[in-house]
Amino acid sequence: MRRKSTLKSISMKKTFLYSLILILQAMSTVACFSQDVNNIRLKDYRPVSIYKIPETEVKKAKYPVIDMHSHDYPKTDAGVKEWIKTMDEAGISKTIILTYATGATFDSAIARYAPFKDRFQVWCGFDYTGYDKPGWQTNAVAELVRCYKKGARGVGELGDKGLGESYSKPVKGWGLHIDDPRMKPLLQKCAELHMPVSIHVAEDAWMYEKSDSTNDGLMNAAQWKVDMSKQGILNHDQLIATLEHAVKENPKTIFIACHLANCCSDLNRLAKLFDSYPNLFADMAARYGELAPIPRFVNSFVTKYANRIVYGTDIGMAYEMYKTTFRILETADEHFYEQDLFNYHWPLYGLSLPDDVLKKVYYENAERLLNTQAAN
Ligand SMILES: [Zn+2]
Repeated sequence: MRRKSTLKSISMKKTFLYSLILILQAMSTVACFSQDVNNIRLKDYRPVSIYKIPETEVKKAKYPVIDMHSHDYPKTDAGVKEWIKTMDEAGISKTIILTYATGATFDSAIARYAPFKDRFQVWCGFDYTGYDKPGWQTNAVAELVRCYKKGARGVGELGDKGLGESYSKPVKGWGLHIDDPRMKPLLQKCAELHMPVSIHVAEDAWMYEKSDSTNDGLMNAAQWKVDMSKQGILNHDQLIATLEHAVKENPKTIFIACHLANCCSDLNRLAKLFDSYPNLFADMAARYGELAPIPRFVNSFVTKYANRIVYGTDIGMAYEMYKTTFRILETADEHFYEQDLFNYHWPLYGLSLPDDVLKKVYYENAERLLNTQAAN
C-alpha cells in the first residue's frame, strides 16, 4: 500500500508538473500573438499589406546594370566568385568597388579582383597622411598616380558628415572639406587622369531632426543621427555648399554625389546643382527606401535628370537586395514593405521608370563615365 501510495503520489506530481509546463507554454504562445497595442514599438512594427493588388517579382534587371556604388564585401577569392554568380543571376554586368583606401589596403583589394577585370572596377581613396603639414599634396598626388597605375579608375567613396574627410583609409582628413583649397591638386589630378570622384556629403534631412514622435523617418533618423553639438561640425546645407564649391571650382573633374547628395527629402536642391554644373552626377545607392514613398515626384525628377543619375547599391551583395531595387525602379507595384532592408516603417511604391530612363540609369550613364576614362 505504502509503496502503491508513494507511486501514486509521484505520478500525481509528474502530472502536475507536466500540466504546469503546458500552461506556461500556452501562456508564452499567447504572449507572442496577442500584443498590447499601447506598447507596440515602432522598431517592431511589421505590417503585412492586405491589399489584393499586383505584386511583381523582378528576378533580373530589365537591362544590364553597372552598379556604381558597392564596397569590398567578400574577403576571399571564393567569396568574389560567389558574388559574380549572384551578379549574373540579378543581371549586374559590372560592379564598382569603392575601397576608400590607398597603400597596402588598396593593393590587396585590387589584387583580389584582378582576375575579374571585366566584372569589377576597383577605385581608391585619397591619402591624407600628414595633411596638416605643408606640401602633403605632393605625396598624396603621387599615391593617387600610383593607385591609378595599379588600376584605380576613380576615387571613392570620399565622405564628409560634417567634420571633414572621414572615410579614407588608413588616414582620415579631419577638418578637411572637399572645397578646401588644399584639396585642389588632388581634384585636378583626378580630372587629368579622368578619374571620377565619388563623394558622400552630409546625411539625409531626417537625421538632423529630433528623434521623437514627430520624426517622419524615425528609426533611421535615430540610428544615423548627426550630433550637431560637436565642435566645428557643418550642418546639412553647409556640407552641400562644400560640394557645390568643389564642383564649381573644378569643372573638369567629374563628381558623383553618393545617395543623391543626401537630398532625398528635397530633390529640388539637387536639381539646382544639376542645372548649374554639367560635371555633377549622382548615384541612387542605399536611398530606395527614401525615394519609394514619393514615386510620382521621383519619377519626374529621375526622368528629367536621366542623363545624370546612376544606379548603385551600397547595401551588401544579396540577390534579394538587388531584386528589391529593380522592383522599386521598374514596376508600378504599390504599398509593399521592406523594413528589414531599409529600416523605415512606411510602405513603398514602384517608380515605374520608362525604358529609356532605366537604360540610362542602369548602364548608359555609367558607361559614359567609364568610357571617359578609357579615352585617357
Ligand atoms: Zn557607400
